[in-house]
Amino acid sequence: MMASEAEKTHALLQSCSAESLLSSFGLGIFCLVAERLLQFPVIQRSDWLRALSDNAVHCVIGMWSWAIVIGVKKKTDFGEVILAGILASVIDLDHFFVARSFSLKAALTLPRRPFLHCSTVIPVVALTLKFAMHLFKLRDSWCFLPWMLFISWTSHHIRDGIRHGLWICPFGKTSPVPFWLYIIITSSLPHVCSFIMYLTGTRQKLSSKYGIRIDV
Ligand SMILES: [Zn+2]
Repeated sequence: MMASEAEKTHALLQSCSAESLLSSFGLGIFCLVAERLLQFPVIQRSDWLRALSDNAVHCVIGMWSWAIVIGVKKKTDFGEVILAGILASVIDLDHFFVARSFSLKAALTLPRRPFLHCSTVIPVVALTLKFAMHLFKLRDSWCFLPWMLFISWTSHHIRDGIRHGLWICPFGKTSPVPFWLYIIITSSLPHVCSFIMYLTGTRQKLSSKYGIRIDV
């Protein structure tokens, strides 16, 4: 799709309102604080507490990112925000799936990383979803779903990447993502995505048909 310079400028302005820039700054601060808190001995001592709080941070980042994208205005927007949090958290269930056990010890000592932690899966699933929705003519009100999945899963992978690097199957693994890069990517991802959503008309479709307000 070709967008004119004016359209691009308009999209850029809309995806970077002062309000949303401030909330992504807040998201960056949250990431900094959360990683520090997770290092506390009281959390590190217990496997379950560590796993649950780690997953909770994934969830909050997913929710926060989507809230930046849509600019929560109405009560009904919270449903979407919660869905984004669930998507960001649910990836870690693949540990238990591959271990075929609910034992946390088994889930944490897998010989290799489970399949949903391969980053190639993200564009493949998001595009498949987009194609399937097009094919089955699903309502336009759900056209945000591939984007939500993309943001929630990407933020999860980048954060896991601080420790494990990114696993781009079948090409292999990168070295660990530097902490500063994790903060920058996490807080700018919602803006990059809403910019592309404006350019491709996804946001306009949502706003015109279902009355979601857009800030100018
Ligand atoms: Zn994970």
